[in-house]
Amino acid sequence: MSSEQPPKRPARVVKRAAASALPASVTPAAPHVASALAASSPWAYAPAPESKELALIRPRYGLFIDGQERAPASGEVVITYNPATEEPLAEVAKGGVEDADRAVGAAERAHRKVWSRLAPRERAKYLYRISRILQERSREFAVTETLDSGKPIRESRDVDVPLAAAHFWYYAGWADKLEYAVPGRRPESHGVVGQVIPWNFPLLMLAWKIAPALAAGNTVVLKPASTTPLTALLFADVCRQADLPPGVVNIITGPGEMGMAIATDPRVAKVAFTGSTSIGIKIAQGIAGHGKALTLELGGKAANIVFEDAALDQAVEGVINGIFFNQGEVCCAGSRLLVQESIAEDFIARLKDRMSTLRVGDPMDKNTDVGAINSPAQMETIGELVSSGVAEGANIWQPECVLPERGWFYKPTLFTNVAQSHRIAREEIFGPVLSAITFRTVDEAIEKANNTAYGLSAGIWTEKGSRILQVAAQLKAGVVWANTFNRFDPTSPFGGYKESGYGREGGLQGLHAYLKSS
Ligand code: NDP
Repeated sequence: MSSEQPPKRPARVVKRAAASALPASVTPAAPHVASALAASSPWAYAPAPESKELALIRPRYGLFIDGQERAPASGEVVITYNPATEEPLAEVAKGGVEDADRAVGAAERAHRKVWSRLAPRERAKYLYRISRILQERSREFAVTETLDSGKPIRESRDVDVPLAAAHFWYYAGWADKLEYAVPGRRPESHGVVGQVIPWNFPLLMLAWKIAPALAAGNTVVLKPASTTPLTALLFADVCRQADLPPGVVNIITGPGEMGMAIATDPRVAKVAFTGSTSIGIKIAQGIAGHGKALTLELGGKAANIVFEDAALDQAVEGVINGIFFNQGEVCCAGSRLLVQESIAEDFIARLKDRMSTLRVGDPMDKNTDVGAINSPAQMETIGELVSSGVAEGANIWQPECVLPERGWFYKPTLFTNVAQSHRIAREEIFGPVLSAITFRTVDEAIEKANNTAYGLSAGIWTEKGSRILQVAAQLKAGVVWANTFNRFDPTSPFGGYKESGYGREGGLQGLHAYLKSS
């Protein structure tokens, strides 16, 4: 397909079973519809691959410091791979402590001499410009993101890239209205902010962090994850295209130690981290006592609670979206299904039916629902936790599906008969693995949902508005979705309790995190 062609709609059902071909006992609204269809007629999809050529990936990338591409002090590179094919995509600079020092120096100068002196409305213009360029180059970004991370093109195209652009647009609106964000006080930027982001939403996490930071008048040093550096490096190109003053945004690739060097640099006044709880704790320890502002967005083990009065097919869709979106590599994934005992059997049957229709495979195919796992290390983590679930006595179920011969793919997995003490009910798996637990009463549902070290998100499925309000108020989770899941909006704050971290990103609260106010 040439780059000029608009994306084709997925060619979904080629041949559909005639209603009369269904067993007499099965009506279209009844459970087990998918399996009835699967048994009576083949469901086939025509392949609909997006063009790789749209990505324009270069063979080698340097560090983006002070508006220029620089070689790392080490002279070394690391290779980033396509998780769906295991093929190398590009060589990326391996930055280190010296490079972090240079990048922070550039950000400090840019803050002191340029960005903090610029009229807020001028800062806003840069943010609008960045947002527009992201929109204009959205296909290039979507394809690059999918090739580098393994997520389905449908998700990078319809979720990651538009939301990233929307964050810049939203915070552009705040840039010249900061005094309204902190009424009665004088808004002031922190100065240089250090940001370390993970591999599950590389561009979106960059946008969550850079957009409010710039709007508030800060300058930035950002480190992307080593397995997904490409869209951040492409963003460096957007900064150049937008004529952003040199040093306002610096993007440096390198290992975890370099991330720590950014965070602990005395010139960095504010640190923002998204990733694992263990590294979040290390960062908090590393900067403790130095008066730096810190936001941590860490792991999760969200409960998706389905009450007996819920619209069940809708709830099934919500549960599927909650755990299989982005292969379950989502901090707020609904990885624990809490289902009321009275409907558990029916619900699990419907869920298995729906899981059987998930398309696992080439992330570049627009029909794909579940793409590739980001790295062999993450495959190992998932495999190890799934084995623990089996060893501890939970029942495992996986749909019949053929995985591609190459690449890091994992079958959608459902565990039933899960006890709260099982590791699969307690630990973040960060993969397409759902652990189902039953409950009888509302109080029991709340108690089980809160029985976790994390507190990032939760979902409630019920027809009763009063029950939504009653339960949501008692859940220890930063975000609670009702009759939906995984809804994101730049105007809405996101963040956690307990081991899910602290501070909020998004919305007005996300802006506050980047402002000192006196
Ligand atoms: P990490 O927390 O190690 O990685 C997140 C980011 O932190 C990456 O940019 C990483 O760099 C960087 N980093 C690593 N070590 C340090 C350090 N000592 N100081 C500063 N920065 C550091 O996550 P993993 O990739 O190891 O994933 C492990 C688990 O973490 C997953 O299985 C999942 O459970 C959870 N996780 C949660 C995420 C979330 O959104 N809450 C996101 C990612 C993972 P580099 O890539 O170079 O190592």
